[in-house]
Amino acid sequence: MNVMEIFETMEYGPAPEAAAPGLSWIQEHSPFNLFINNQWVKPTSGQYIDSINPATGKRLAQVAAAHSADVDAAVAAARAAFETWGKTPGHIRARYMYAIARHIQKHSRLLAVLESLDNGKPLRETRDIDIPLVARHFYYHAGWAQLMESELPGYQPVGVVGQIIPWNFPLLMLAWKIAPALAMGNTIVLKPARYTSLTALKFAEIIQEIGLPPGVVNILTGEASQVGEALVRHPDINKIAFTGSTDVGRSIRRATAGSGKKLSLELGGKSPFIVFDDADLDSVVEGVVDAIWFNQGQVCCAGSRLLVQEDIADRLIEKLRERMEHLRIGDPLDKAVDIGAIVSPGQLKEIQRLVNKGVEEGAVMWQPSWACPTEGYFFPPTLFTNVSPATTIAQVEIFGPVLVSMTFRTPAEAVELANNTPYGLAASVWSENINLALDVAPKLKAGSVWINCTNLFDASSGFGGYRESGFGREGGKEGLYEYVRPKWETHEAPSSELHIATESASTYGSKPQAPADEDAEGEGLDHISMSADGYSALLPAIDRTPKMFIGGKQTRPDSGYSRDVYDPQGRVIGQVGEGNRKDIRNAVEAAHAAHGWAAGTAHNRAQILYYMAENLSVREEEFARKIVQQTGRSYVDAAAEVQATISRLFSYAAWADKYEGAVHRPPLRGVVLAMPEAIGVIGLACPEEYPLLGFVSLVAPAIAMGNTIVVVPSQVSPLSATDCYQVLETSDLPGGVVNIVTGDRDELSQVLADHDDVDAMWYFGQAEGCKRVELASAGNMKRTWVSYGHPRDWMDRVQGEGEEFLREATQVKNIWVPYGE
Ligand code: NAD
Ligand code: MN
Repeated sequence: MNVMEIFETMEYGPAPEAAAPGLSWIQEHSPFNLFINNQWVKPTSGQYIDSINPATGKRLAQVAAAHSADVDAAVAAARAAFETWGKTPGHIRARYMYAIARHIQKHSRLLAVLESLDNGKPLRETRDIDIPLVARHFYYHAGWAQLMESELPGYQPVGVVGQIIPWNFPLLMLAWKIAPALAMGNTIVLKPARYTSLTALKFAEIIQEIGLPPGVVNILTGEASQVGEALVRHPDINKIAFTGSTDVGRSIRRATAGSGKKLSLELGGKSPFIVFDDADLDSVVEGVVDAIWFNQGQVCCAGSRLLVQEDIADRLIEKLRERMEHLRIGDPLDKAVDIGAIVSPGQLKEIQRLVNKGVEEGAVMWQPSWACPTEGYFFPPTLFTNVSPATTIAQVEIFGPVLVSMTFRTPAEAVELANNTPYGLAASVWSENINLALDVAPKLKAGSVWINCTNLFDASSGFGGYRESGFGREGGKEGLYEYVRPKWETHEAPSSELHIATESASTYGSKPQAPADEDAEGEGLDHISMSADGYSALLPAIDRTPKMFIGGKQTRPDSGYSRDVYDPQGRVIGQVGEGNRKDIRNAVEAAHAAHGWAAGTAHNRAQILYYMAENLSVREEEFARKIVQQTGRSYVDAAAEVQATISRLFSYAAWADKYEGAVHRPPLRGVVLAMPEAIGVIGLACPEEYPLLGFVSLVAPAIAMGNTIVVVPSQVSPLSATDCYQVLETSDLPGGVVNIVTGDRDELSQVLADHDDVDAMWYFGQAEGCKRVELASAGNMKRTWVSYGHPRDWMDRVQGEGEEFLREATQVKNIWVPYGE
């Protein structure tokens, strides 16, 4: 045999990693107990569950099965620890976190081996990807602990957080949850997934080693139905952070609705992997391997839908099959193995079921000629062609090593196909034409977009999705806000009180004066407004009944009914249209049609907001009187509200072209562009108080960021909003950007919250309404921002405007752009 022949036939030999260090660590500890208050505590149930090695199907260890009594104990420990930890200076927290990062590195090989044993993923991945990213996450967030005081000055920790993680990246998901929570001064009760608890338990040992104060991190193993649900419902938990399936995420949204718990959800995906015909196909093939065969495809952001430009599809599929023939499957501890074991028999069955379904649906299935190991839970890499976009395998997350491919002709078709799922987690784009790639990236509905790369992660760059992929980000500065709240916010329970502001001091410009012909009190104004000329006292006022404002036009309410508007004395001062479901639907449609608003320039949006301020200021007195009439507040006070409103419009005109993204420098050659993007169509339910300022305080940030909106004004005092129709019409605002529907605020909000084409919902009102909105939002998993009945001082610039509003009006998309050829 000559060298050439050897080269041709060369196979990898086995390169096994020793399991012994992992196995003996397990033996020393099993059965594992619960980690509460830095101590190992026996579960009250006395029960233990098996943790298996999916590569063999054999039992690895026994871990405690916590029940609700254990959850109570852990939450109590976390609550007690929060008293101190929440006030511990950032520098001290940073020291602890730095120690955690160091210890993770010191134990990195053991952690990598344990993870592979317990989860079945190849050691190559745990050693080179999972564990280094875990350490990086703690280092990065140690930095944010250090900087919290100076970089997030207006914020405080949320309190006790419950964190629930899946089995696919057990220690990495733990790090993504624990690191930002600790950095921001929260205390934690974390539940690992049923099948993969071991690295979390090793992490608990690290917590002990570094001497983190007791109760700051508590870890409870066990069943979802016992631990997970008890955490979600626990009254003394201030936030739930969850990663897992969309179904469970939806049930958590419903279970926490109205409780005032903060919530972040990282859910499923069906991410597109888009290949244009000028892409480097050899790179593409390796990209596909990383996209769908990394971690056996059990990756929420797996590139599971291959979208190929038609003219290269056959060539790419052929190359792919060739590559699949050479993938190596087997013992996860073998360093020359590409694909390890599926985490559990249940997951294996589910993959098989969906693959069968694909075949039944008429797609063409292809698998390599080699066979999988028969011991343990293995599934071969699988490729479907001839897939039609509406079929199950093209829509449903398989969470296994199964790729479905489809073709497109034009970039526009690619974008349409890519966005044709209810998810919005990630996407990757392959083209040698950077102009094309950067044009396509913003059009993709995804939280992460990888250009000529895939499945890259870094602590500096936020990760998370939208729509049915959930909401919130992990990593980056944006991820920190999931674990803080404004300092002025109280811890109080959701409130059913109705807050109608009385008088407030002006903080905007000079103190307004009452016009000469008025006394300063609201009582002095009649319900028919009069001017100084001699005639109007003799003539009845011309009736003005505002209609709805939809698509830039004033339209009659569908119901044909009007509702009376009263002053505080109960006198009728006007009518507004009685909006219904149909009006809301029309408004949502108009808002969608106006999506070009987001694509326009920020400069243009700023100009229009300034113009609105200008047009409002021309009618300052009229608006002030209308506020007096509706609220009975003094003229001086009402005029202060109008001035504050003008100032607020200026603020968002200013922000429109200044709330920008960031360029991250993760440890790779390249950059990540973090771009805040409009969410889409937002439904707004305005506060009852401050009829004008409350309305503009929501409208202005939403449209400044490029959203189009459907607004339900104050129900008690809607006339200030309807008086704005003319301001909007004369300010060059394109039709459909702002749509206003008057009527029963809660009824209309319900329709908006239920609506599948509304992407986010803000609701400022009483606790019950907030709960209904959060419950309904679970339908399409829209983002919500509600006040839980807590008052907000709209006249105060800290509470009434600023970055909190802009953050709620945007979502960050991270676009990864590597350098080099
Ligand atoms: P899962 O949703 O069943 O479980 C996730 C976690 O939630 C586990 O710890 C589980 O015990 C717990 N849990 C289950 N039911 C619960 C309930 N009713 N209340 C509270 N907790 C409950 O998902 P899984 O099967 O473990 O993981 C696979 C899924 O996770 C996939 O669908 C995948 O898309 C998703 N995932 C998403 C991300 C992301 O970042 N978006 C990351 C990894 C996995
Ligand atoms: Mn296991």
